[in-house]
Amino acid sequence: MAIWKNYINGEWVPALSGKTRKVINPATEEVIAETAEGNAEDAKLAIKAAKEAFYGTGEWRRKSAQMRSDVLLQIADEMDKRRNELARTDTLDNGKPLREAEGDVDDAIHCFRYYAGMIKAPYGGIYDVNDAFGPMHSYTIHEPVGVCGQITPWNYPLLMAVWKIAPALAAGNSIVFKPSSITPLSSILLFEILDHVGLPKGCVNLVMGSGGTVGQEIAENFDVDMVTFTGSTEVGREIAKAAIGNLKKVGLELGGKSPNVIFADADLEGAVEWAMVGIFFNQGEVCSAGSRIIIEESVKDKFIERLSSRANAMTLGNGLNNPDMGPLVSEEHMNTVLNYIEIAKAEGATCVCGGYRYTEGECAKGYFVRPTIFDNCTSDMTIVKEEVFGPVVTIQTFKTEEEAVELANDTIYGLAGAVFTTDGARALRVVKEIRAGITWVNCYNPTFNEAPWGGYKMSGYGRELGIHGLEEYQEIKQVNINLAPGKLGWYEER
Ligand code: NAD
Repeated sequence: MAIWKNYINGEWVPALSGKTRKVINPATEEVIAETAEGNAEDAKLAIKAAKEAFYGTGEWRRKSAQMRSDVLLQIADEMDKRRNELARTDTLDNGKPLREAEGDVDDAIHCFRYYAGMIKAPYGGIYDVNDAFGPMHSYTIHEPVGVCGQITPWNYPLLMAVWKIAPALAAGNSIVFKPSSITPLSSILLFEILDHVGLPKGCVNLVMGSGGTVGQEIAENFDVDMVTFTGSTEVGREIAKAAIGNLKKVGLELGGKSPNVIFADADLEGAVEWAMVGIFFNQGEVCSAGSRIIIEESVKDKFIERLSSRANAMTLGNGLNNPDMGPLVSEEHMNTVLNYIEIAKAEGATCVCGGYRYTEGECAKGYFVRPTIFDNCTSDMTIVKEEVFGPVVTIQTFKTEEEAVELANDTIYGLAGAVFTTDGARALRVVKEIRAGITWVNCYNPTFNEAPWGGYKMSGYGRELGIHGLEEYQEIKQVNINLAPGKLGWYEER
């Protein structure tokens, strides 16, 4: 089996230690690839190359926005040509249904095109400052931050990479990128594309390896100017601590336990369909998953009946065959999810459907868990408090709007949330009260390259996508030009 290598300073190289790691297809439990397993030493080499590319040659950051934009468009075009291969690779590696992986690739292509356009837009400002120092022209310019370390999770392998790489490149930075070791394959294909379009040597680097070695080095190395991380809140904390040494900029896109609030006046059928998307899309391995359904008591029974009948009818199988849901990403993760299910049962939640590993037919192999609904949940239960990151949803009820909002906000997280109602004023009131970075009304999960993505509270800080996603990768410089050279303004009058 060929060994997929790291990409450092424009070369495909094995890990310095010679170590490799096997990549497993979660639908079949088969080894599908072997990759270089880098460590801190490999990360240091990549950081050195990225530093030289930025501060030494500076070729990429000095290119005009127009030229950087052209390269981003070329990347998008190459991804388009390899769309099927990219999608199939994420399905093999992560398990998700192929049509969902294809959607990810399309979003990723669009993301490059979006930032290719945005980087050419006017930016900065001209400031009408006072003339105490004489007449001044004051304006701002945006500059790249420098060497950006980027670390991603396994749930959207390609998309999470592109949300970081596209704006960072558009802004003119150098990159050291580390994918999750569980799902590195589509990142390798992406780097083949970055290599193909001829970015300057050292401008983009891929280092595969564990979080504790490669990730830790990226977060603490003094030559990294910024680290952006998508992953769990627990690791996000470690990153923030490691980054403190040189006070590098930090962006954190972390976990969630998002409320999906449903009022009795909602279109109930629609709410059921969106709730399905909210919790079972991508096997529930979604940071913004609507994992806490908070529903008005009077319609709970009707809602649960419909939701559970839809969930029971879901097909599970190999993602390549486009079932409703694929396997969970790994055996370890499946066991974590099953353990949460057992805790929920032990703490007194009522399992309405699912709640077990599924092994029928082609699922005899692979890490499949049936879509699971827990009723009679309370805010003190582990299943309501902690992120499960799987196809498991809890149900809580309320009688008043105030109670609904209180339950929705009763969490350490603040990534997302939704409200279902036909009362427009109530929708606006509840949206204003939910402490989360993304909220939906009468839908769940739609996400757009054009709009900012990120969390409140322990779901992190910083934003990806939209103009904010670009600005995260930029410094702002103030420039003041003396329009009367030789004059000293009020200094002269002293
Ligand atoms: P994780 O935190 O275990 O790992 C994420 C990445 O961090 C991986 O590449 C891992 O190797 C690396 N890592 C682990 N320990 C590290 C350390 N000490 N220093 C540096 N890097 C380290 O997360 P995961 O299990 O891969 O992904 C699931 C989590 O990601 C969930 O909590 C989910 O909510 C979150 N997530 C958030 C968003 C968002 O936009 N907010 C999007 C997707 C996933």
